Amino acid sequence: MDLDLTGRTVIVTGASSGVGLATASILLAEGANVAACARDGRRLADALARAGRADGARLFTGACDVLDAEQVQSFVTSAAEELGGVDGLVNNAGRSLMRRLLETDDQEWRDELALKMFGVLNPVRAALPWLRASRAAAVVNVNAILARQPEPLLAATSAARAALLNMTTTLATELAPDGIRVNSVCLGLIDTGQWRRRYEASETTDSWVEWSAKLAASRGIPLGRLGNAEEVAYPIVSLLSPRASYVSGASLDVGGGIARYA
Ligand code: NDP
Repeated sequence: MDLDLTGRTVIVTGASSGVGLATASILLAEGANVAACARDGRRLADALARAGRADGARLFTGACDVLDAEQVQSFVTSAAEELGGVDGLVNNAGRSLMRRLLETDDQEWRDELALKMFGVLNPVRAALPWLRASRAAAVVNVNAILARQPEPLLAATSAARAALLNMTTTLATELAPDGIRVNSVCLGLIDTGQWRRRYEASETTDSWVEWSAKLAASRGIPLGRLGNAEEVAYPIVSLLSPRASYVSGASLDVGGGIARYA
């Protein structure tokens, strides 16, 4: 199936690693123009230099912290002027905080909530004029199954994820009259920089394969393994595609069956 993404322009935040890098790479291979950001601009440019591109697909990269509204505005404006507009936005930049509820201090609560709220609101606000002008605009917010199924070890992250899921529903309603679709993908445990860093910090003698298999078993993942970044990126790209033109306000779980809610 042709996803009809050729020549469309998509912003991907947090595109130097993991899910964002896989999403940007697939979009370029599908013929879309990509505007990619992360805080470390050198790592971003190096990572995307290795991505293959369909003929004509253009790449714009910029160092930008999604929590800094001025930086986001400047990045989005430059990207839209360079690439000729914005048709899609993937709000992916982020991380999680491994901390139990009563061990999480006030600043950590504020930081988690700020990242999940303003990490999405800043890019949406900045991209809105161009999304409104697009004939097939779509926003995808990368979220977590934690939003509906809180994890005691990730207390503040789970609460902030729930707030983002709620906000995404409102955003979908508010932007629908402008023809902008807004959806979420909710992730389970995905093999990316986040989990590799935890593996390295654990100082285990297990290999990554052994460690991640034990992790998957301890979390009761029905498919028996962690997902990989491409397994998240393809669902994101399909939600961005104009072929999904009647899908808005939806959330898609990508967790190997880990979600226990009906
Ligand atoms: P990675 O750590 O592999 O990649 C995170 C990316 O986000 C990097 O490019 C990083 O680059 C960028 N980033 C982080 N903070 C900011 C910021 N403030 N401004 C701009 N860019 C930023 O993570 P994943 O691919 O695993 O995560 C992608 C998303 O998926 C995150 O929102 C994460 O919370 C979510 N998620 C991941 C899960 C998993 O199991 N992997 C599970 C559930 C949700 P730089 O540091 O240079 O800024």
